[in-house]
Amino acid sequence: MALQILYYPDPRLREVSPAVADIESVKPLIAPMFEVMYRSRGIGLAGPQVGILQRIIVANITGKREEADEEKIFLNPTIVDRSGEMRDHEGCLSLPGIDALIRRSESLAVEVTDLEGRRQRFEATGLWSKLFQHEIDHLDGILILDKMSPADLKQWAYRLKELEDDFRKNVRREHKPAEAGL
Ligand SMILES: [Zn+2]
Repeated sequence: MALQILYYPDPRLREVSPAVADIESVKPLIAPMFEVMYRSRGIGLAGPQVGILQRIIVANITGKREEADEEKIFLNPTIVDRSGEMRDHEGCLSLPGIDALIRRSESLAVEVTDLEGRRQRFEATGLWSKLFQHEIDHLDGILILDKMSPADLKQWAYRLKELEDDFRKNVRREHKPAEAGL
C-alpha cells in the first residue's frame, strides 16, 4: 500500500478524526505512513494527511529512515497540560512551500496509547512540543494557516491560491520536499 500526502485544500484535511478503536486494524498502516513521511522529508505525520481519518501520529525526530529506533507511534494523543509560549517556524507537508511563524505552548504533558494498547504520559518541550501540537491539530482538522498572522496569510496568499488552483484542476505536482516538515 503506497500512501500519498493530501494537499490543501483537500477537504479530508478539515475532518475531525475519531479515536482509534481497534489497534490491530491500524498496525498495517504504520509502515506505509513512515514510508511517505520519509519520502517527503517529514519528521512527523498525522493520519488525515494521508487520508486515514483516525487519531494516529507517526514521528521520527531525526527524519532519517536509517535511524529506525527513533520511530515513534502515538495513538489517540491528548494534551493534558501545557505551559509557556514559543513562536517558531513551521512547515506542513500538506501545505508545500509555506513556512510561517506559529505560536505554540512551550511545554506539554501528553497522554498517548502505544501499539500494545498501553496508555503512556510524556513531557514534551521544544521540537517535540511543536510536533505534538501541529499533528494533534491535524487530527482536529486544523492547519497552520488557521494560526498564521494576518501579515503571513497575506504574504502566502499567492501560494494558497496556487494550491487551490491545483486542487480544483486535479493537478498533482511532486512538490520539492521541505526539511523537517510536519
Ligand atoms: Zn502538517
